[in-house]
Amino acid sequence: MAGTPGRPLVIAHRGASGYLPEHTQPAKALAYGQGADVLEQDIVATRDGRLLVLHDLWLERVTDVARRYPGRRRADGHWYARDFTLAELRGLAVTERLAADGATPAFAGRFPPWQGEFRLHALEDELALLRGLNATTGRQVGVYPEIKSPGWHRDAGVDLGVLLAEALEAELAARGPLPLWLQCFDPAELRRLHAEGFRLPMTQLIGRDPAAQGDWAGEDPLSATGLAALSRHCSAIGPWLGHVWRDGQDTGLVARAHEVGLAVHPWTLRCDRLPEGCGDFEVLVAQLCGDIGVDGLFTDHPDRVVAARDRCWARLD
Ligand code: CA
Repeated sequence: MAGTPGRPLVIAHRGASGYLPEHTQPAKALAYGQGADVLEQDIVATRDGRLLVLHDLWLERVTDVARRYPGRRRADGHWYARDFTLAELRGLAVTERLAADGATPAFAGRFPPWQGEFRLHALEDELALLRGLNATTGRQVGVYPEIKSPGWHRDAGVDLGVLLAEALEAELAARGPLPLWLQCFDPAELRRLHAEGFRLPMTQLIGRDPAAQGDWAGEDPLSATGLAALSRHCSAIGPWLGHVWRDGQDTGLVARAHEVGLAVHPWTLRCDRLPEGCGDFEVLVAQLCGDIGVDGLFTDHPDRVVAARDRCWARLD
């Protein structure tokens, strides 16, 4: 609920990505089993206009595309998901995320690169997994898809925002309600989808440097007037954690957002990469869930956040 107190949602960032390769079905199933309330999806379009769950526009940091399709690299050095059909993409082997050098792991100590059998999947596959788990467990875990680089996709000939919003509306119409938030960094994209009549719950992501991220229609999104403007078409904001918590202190953003009815879902809590000025992961989660009063937390480690949140909540009750 926007702006109303409740147990903060644990949002599994790319699944339980601290433990298994991001955006794979095993990573999503593990997050579910660890008690996450919501599974996050990054969405890009394939060559055949399908919705692929993938963080980057390109493939080489998490798959064997360079070895399998050496001739399909673009001039900028990347292999783009948009240049491949869903069938081709499903055939790629997936690894734990690699750093820019293509060899060392992006996060030391996480799942070993190239180990195991992992695949990419479409949004529809993940929805089928989630609906099935919701049926077998009786829980109502939700989804949190992100429109990735809508302007880039438009230039590449596909209206990703509309494609995704229509797919989500069709999913709800066909299979019934599901907790759901549609997120995007590009502020113009969510305003446009609202203006075009889509009424899905929307979350405006706010990066470390909001000015670099798009057209805010003349408003600072961290200010009271900027938040009021966002509240006309969004139900939540997803700010960089540093906008909410800095050097152990509440910045006041959560209270300002709650004033205008916006829920606040900051990102990203990682127990193997603590934010600057944080000495203890559990203390940070307790502070965010308690005094600061966030409504949800994106995390790579759902089990750790669920445990810390529930301890904090037991004290508050
Ligand atoms: Ca994301």
